[in-house]
Formats: sequence, structure tokens, C-alpha cells
Amino acid sequence: MPSNARKNILKNLKRVVIKIGSSVISHHEPGKGLTQGLNPEMVLHYAKKIKMIVGKNCQPIIVSSGAIMAGRARLGINREFLSIPEKQACASIGQSFLMHTYEKKLDKQGLKAAQILLSHDDLGNRKRYLNAKHTIETLIDYGVIPIINENDTVTVDEIKIGDNDTLSATVASLVDAQALIILSDVNGLYTRDPGQRVPKGEAPAELISQVNRITPEIEKLAGKTTNRLAVGGMYTKILSAKKTMNSGIPCLLLNGLDKKSLDRFFDGEEVGTLFWSNKRKFGSRKHWIAHTLKPQGSLLLDPGACRAIAKGGKSLLPAGIKNVEGKFEFGNCVSLLNEKRKEIGRGLVNYNSSNLDQIKGMKTPAVRTLFSDHFYEEVIHRDDLALIE
Ligand code: GLU
Repeated sequence: MPSNARKNILKNLKRVVIKIGSSVISHHEPGKGLTQGLNPEMVLHYAKKIKMIVGKNCQPIIVSSGAIMAGRARLGINREFLSIPEKQACASIGQSFLMHTYEKKLDKQGLKAAQILLSHDDLGNRKRYLNAKHTIETLIDYGVIPIINENDTVTVDEIKIGDNDTLSATVASLVDAQALIILSDVNGLYTRDPGQRVPKGEAPAELISQVNRITPEIEKLAGKTTNRLAVGGMYTKILSAKKTMNSGIPCLLLNGLDKKSLDRFFDGEEVGTLFWSNKRKFGSRKHWIAHTLKPQGSLLLDPGACRAIAKGGKSLLPAGIKNVEGKFEFGNCVSLLNEKRKEIGRGLVNYNSSNLDQIKGMKTPAVRTLFSDHFYEEVIHRDDLALIE
């Protein structure tokens, strides 16, 4: 594996999205349980790092967690499970405190901060997505540091982005960043869980320096473990890396509790785990279809249709559809499944689910006769279809 990959990334680094996890900026005091609260020292530390990055002529865009964590501490709630309104209340209290702290610490570095709260509704609607982009671009033009979080106070679970690993991957492609850095409380991805005892005769856990392709084995390594203060675990980090790799953006996992890790990366050292495929697959619109929109249903395709769209660069026609699952409307995003039910792509449909159920498996002339006034030859046009590996 090329050990100079990080150096190559640094050469072209003009814009970087940095995700700061809750555990990175919280206190770690024994006996305090889940009411550790925000550690202003760590926010100051990262304000200094932001200044260092700006000094390198690179624009940092921050995605910061920590609202719920900070709100919990202010309300003194140590209980692990919170109801949705409780989480929203904590986020509402914590977010203003979090922002206030960033503002104060960045101000000391001579930098201005701006808060951006996003929800899936903002990102799932192309117009609002572009609107958010324009706002961020304008802030950057004015030299302001955008501090982004999910709008937790008004989103309920069903419509949530859910975790800031996912949000940061979407933001990286939204702003055309050259890298995403995820700071959490682990050094990166290991060959096995570093927290577990190694059975006799087996190899110890080793940090993986670079991943070029996210295989099912890599996904398995990530497991579904999580930390009680944070929402995502290694699994959401791997899925986020997959998203950024799909648009050719490298994703680096670093230990944010290690105050030297960002400097070490910017000094070109081989630190953390780097996910990089080195090829751009999607333009930003197809990336949005594949990774930002939530599929509202799925279409089970026959092998001929799978081949035509995966290898032949074709649009999806009604004839290749074997089954329609879920309820969706014209223009919604759906998943495309092969016969083994593996997802091979996503796209925007030209028919709603009940019309599609009527025409699945039909040849084009018959569909034209049935839907003369609102006939579309393609169920999903090629331009609205993104393949998934
Ligand atoms: N948006 C949540 C918060 O600020 C955090 C989500 C996450 O940790 O991924 O508390």
C-alpha cells in the first residue's frame, strides 16, 4: 500500500471537513457517568488546530457533535436512555452552550464561527441542499468557520440523519472537500477489537493504516459497537468512509483525544486509518441520490436488467422489474436489488409504486398504451441512477 498517500492528500488540501465527536470534547472524569459535560479545554485545543489549518491556506469546515452530551450534563441526567423529547431538550440546551464555547475559543484565535443546523429534510431536497451549499460557500468567502450539527431539537428519529459521521460525509461532498477527517476516541480501524482479550495463538489487534476498498470483511471488523456518549460507532464511520470514497474524497479516522494526531497528519506522518480509493466515481448529484436521499422502497430486478444498468450504462425499463416493494411517489428515491437482494444501485423513479406494480415486467409499447398521457419510457433514467458497489 502506498505509504505516501497522506502526503499526496496534503498536497491538494484546500478544503477539509473535520468531524469532532462528542467524546473528544467531553470531560473524562471517573465517577461522572454520562454527565461528563463539555470540556472547554478541548474546544480551545481544536480552535487552535483550526487556526493552524487556516494558516496552511486550507479551509476547515467543522461538524461538531456534543449538543446532547453538553445538555445532559447541564440537566444532570445520568440515565443512559433518554426519550426523544428529552434528547431534543438536551440538544437544545447543549447546542447553544456548545456554540457559545466554540465562538469564545475561536474568537481568541481571531476567527469567527457560524452555526449551521441541518436536518435530513434540508439535505434530501435538492433545492434546499444547494441552498445550504451556497450559505456555507458565502461563510467561507468571508473567512468564517462553519460549525455544523444536525438540527436535533426538531427532528424525530424517523427523519433523522442519525449520526454526525453520516452528516460529515454528506457535508464533505456538499462542499467538495478534498478530505474528511473524523476525530473520535479510537486510533482507527483495527484488525480485531483492541479492547478484547486476544485468544491464545491468535494475532494481536493491529491498526490498519489504509483501506482501499470497503469489503464485507472490513464492514465486519467494524462491528456495531458504540460509545455511550456518542451516537455512531465504528460501523457508521465505515459507512461514511464508503460514501466519501464513492465521490473520491479520502476519509481519515484519527484519535481526537490524542492532542498530537492532527499535527502528525499535517506533518505527513502515517497516523490513523485512511480510506481512499483514489478514483472519483460520482458527480455530486449522483452522490446525492446514492448517499443522501433515503430510499422509500425497492425494485427487485431480473438478471438482464441488472446487467443492462450495471455494465451497459442503460436506463431501467419496466420489463426488467420483477417486484415492487414499499409505497413511493413519482420522483422518490428507490433501491435497486438483484436476485440475491443485494443493493446494486439507487435512482429516482418516474412512476409511483402502484403504477409501477401495474407495469412491472411489461414491454414498452404496452406501457405506452396504458399511460398515454403520462408515459415515460424509463422507470429510472440513466441520469437519475447511481450504481452502488
Ligand atoms: N447531533 C448529536 C449531538 O450533537 C450527536 C450525534 C453523533 O454523535 O453522531 O449531540
